[in-house]
Amino acid sequence: MAKPIVAIVGRPNVGKSTFFNKLAGKRIAIVEDKPGVTRDRIYTDVEWLNHSFTLIDTGGLELESDDVLLSHMRNQAKMAIETAHVIVFMVDGRAGLVSDDEEIANLLRRAGKPVLLVVNKVDTSNLPVSFYDFYQLALGEPVAISSTNALGLGDLLDEIVARFPQNEEEDYEEDIIKVAVIGKPNVGKSSIINTLLGEERVIVSDIAGTTRDAIDTPFTHGEDEYVFIDTAGIRRKSRVNENIEKYSVVRSLNAIERANVCMLMIDATEGVTEQDKKIAGYAHEEGKATVIVVNKWDLLEKETNTMNQFTKNIRNELSFMPYAPILFVSAVTKQRVHQILETVKFIANQHSMRVPTGRLNDVISEAILLNQPPSDKGKRLKIYYVTQASVRPPKFVIFINDRELTHFSYSRYIENKIREAFGFEGTPISIIHREKN
Ligand code: GDP
Ligand code: GDP
Repeated sequence: MAKPIVAIVGRPNVGKSTFFNKLAGKRIAIVEDKPGVTRDRIYTDVEWLNHSFTLIDTGGLELESDDVLLSHMRNQAKMAIETAHVIVFMVDGRAGLVSDDEEIANLLRRAGKPVLLVVNKVDTSNLPVSFYDFYQLALGEPVAISSTNALGLGDLLDEIVARFPQNEEEDYEEDIIKVAVIGKPNVGKSSIINTLLGEERVIVSDIAGTTRDAIDTPFTHGEDEYVFIDTAGIRRKSRVNENIEKYSVVRSLNAIERANVCMLMIDATEGVTEQDKKIAGYAHEEGKATVIVVNKWDLLEKETNTMNQFTKNIRNELSFMPYAPILFVSAVTKQRVHQILETVKFIANQHSMRVPTGRLNDVISEAILLNQPPSDKGKRLKIYYVTQASVRPPKFVIFINDRELTHFSYSRYIENKIREAFGFEGTPISIIHREKN
């Protein structure tokens, strides 16, 4: 099953971001040095027991200047209802019950999604008298926590994972390429999907009777089977908040989770925006293959260098995904549109490629000869051998003598050598060190 999404909603200052940061813990610090990905971060991965899920802090979506607080909170709640599998509704145990809480609760009660009412700022083991008022919200048993003191978090996580959807039928055959078309509103997602589906060799399949086909669009192209994931909102445009750009990030999370390949759409007339970076960062961190599709290329005044300049700018802004191929297309004139599915197929194959262990170790031995592993205080990193542990994305385990001696730049060097030898175009690679003694 795709990773479940948990959204935190609630009034400002109840402690949503404190809670988010507590759960995000180390992970955020690790990715912090990837420029562009982590600023104003609103989502993070959380591991709890045998579960892993994506946590979204809807409070991290800033107010626009003309937003009225209450309508802003309503929008956040609606978005959470639409996107999340479990909603954490946070209230403030010090402030007690206030009318805005009731407003949000009214929306959430009708959501048809599991909601957990969480009373934050209960910093000691005594429940405040006001705690009992929260039963009035009719959202079940409130869970008391203290985000700052990290009290009750384990129990809460248990309650959250207990509400995840059970064995949701997943999904498609292994060899069907699952594609998420992602990007902000008006970049041309529905135009490009329609253009692709109108291509000569494309036949839209007609799978009746599954719940999926309401939101996905399966089709074949020549011999190959594909499915555009979560196209309902894109093609119908009837969903809430569709045109609010900041929500496009959250909107994309589910589709990215379920896909193998992401078509990240960039508007040629605008270049890479902050929202684009966040969406791209998520696809990268989730280990999906990505092709960057620059659309509306027909609208640019072109000079000899335009494409190079644009490429440079993308590489700069999306520096964490140098592996992603870039296409410059127009959904209107159909320029280069035929390259899209070819590229999607190609990177889907790269994403699931397995390399022979012998060849892999030859490549690594040679790399070590060319450039010695780092050393510290007279002790040198020893690399014993490397194996590819999994695909989608390709993951390599390097057996070494001492984790303390590993260095980011050397891992990067090894990654580059692996890419030089085998390609892995369009896909992130993950490298893990394991001590062997
Ligand atoms: P948000 O607007 O909902 O994201 O709220 P913040 O996470 O920014 O927290 C608002 C304020 O409440 C900050 O001053 C936090 O330090 C404080 N706060 C958050 N969690 C707790 C808690 O568990 N106990 C106490 N006493 N204060 C908290
Ligand atoms: P979505 O919100 O991402 O699905 O974007 P749409 O497909 O609805 O496109 C938004 C607007 O951009 C529409 O008016 C389209 O006609 C226009 N558009 C989409 N692709 C192109 C393109 O390649 N060139 C030009 N000139 N306009 C485009």
